[in-house]
Amino acid sequence: MLAYTYIEKGKFAWVEKPKPALIEPTDSIVRVTMSSICTSDLHIKHGSVPRAVPGITLGHEMVGVVEEVGVEVTHVKPGDRVTVNVETFCGDCFFCKNGYVNNCIDPNGGWALGCRIDGGQTEYVRVPLANQGLNRIPDSVTDEQALLVGDVLATGFWAARISEITQDDTVLIIGAGPTGICTLLCVMLKQPKRIIVCEKSEERRRFVQEHYPDVLLSTPEECKDFVLQHSDHGGADRVLEVAGANDTFRLAWECARPNAIVTVVALYDQPQILPLPDMYGKNLTFKTGGVDGCDGEEILRLIEEGSIDTTPLITHRFPLSKMEEAYRLFENKLDGVIKVAII
Ligand SMILES: [Zn+2]
Ligand SMILES: [Zn+2]
Repeated sequence: MLAYTYIEKGKFAWVEKPKPALIEPTDSIVRVTMSSICTSDLHIKHGSVPRAVPGITLGHEMVGVVEEVGVEVTHVKPGDRVTVNVETFCGDCFFCKNGYVNNCIDPNGGWALGCRIDGGQTEYVRVPLANQGLNRIPDSVTDEQALLVGDVLATGFWAARISEITQDDTVLIIGAGPTGICTLLCVMLKQPKRIIVCEKSEERRRFVQEHYPDVLLSTPEECKDFVLQHSDHGGADRVLEVAGANDTFRLAWECARPNAIVTVVALYDQPQILPLPDMYGKNLTFKTGGVDGCDGEEILRLIEEGSIDTTPLITHRFPLSKMEEAYRLFENKLDGVIKVAII
């Protein structure tokens, strides 16, 4: 089968590889029916993911059908339609037992698929620790509805969960890219008093306005004043920083009211400055890090009951053979793209 492969920094290419086989009794083989491209794939391309292994098949966002399972896999069976989690995790170590699956100590724990082991931008993928890494898609949920469950939607869900949002809160979300909008959808489930989205791209602000008309919109330049005018206590009660641009970390804590929670979801290319003297007395709580992708089942239930719908984010569809074209569009943010579906 042809697999879209990380060759070296700056270079991805098609490579002919054998169909993967079971190795461990906890493995599963999944036939990929739909996949996507994530900004993290671009980070691999640009060489900013040092643990990415040259030669691996890319892709960590996918849905598919279980083809084969190892003898210890009980959670899914051949024929099941499943979402594949960005993180594989053992479910058994200290971190997994506390829900911190991103920090699972298993050799295959954390973000392995499409980074350290072969991923899903191809026809078949071996998923280790399949009892934890796969979730069955309800019959009434389509592949396209479930496509983002394992990665960007899981990230938004986790970000909204750890931000401890109440119905009295003004919530500021910085960034309305794919993860920012997924975060917005999950914040909306908490029904805060007000949601403000700050986004620099006019195209993306329009997208948010069109699909989520109750959300207030601002630009990075106006954001601080705008939040002051539209909050009850001199700043946002909760700030979720999903942009990861040069000035957005500073913007995040500047827009927060005293004693707010600032959740940093973004992955930065550069170190950020935490100017403690400037924020002395503001008594902020910062939460940072990568998604603990262990809520797939609950997210799928919310999709099934109609509470979350990410299908408007899938703006473009390509066959697997047109992967290069899909990457070009996604990387250059052409034609209003938010997410692509590779079928
Ligand atoms: Zn990703
Ligand atoms: Zn673990």
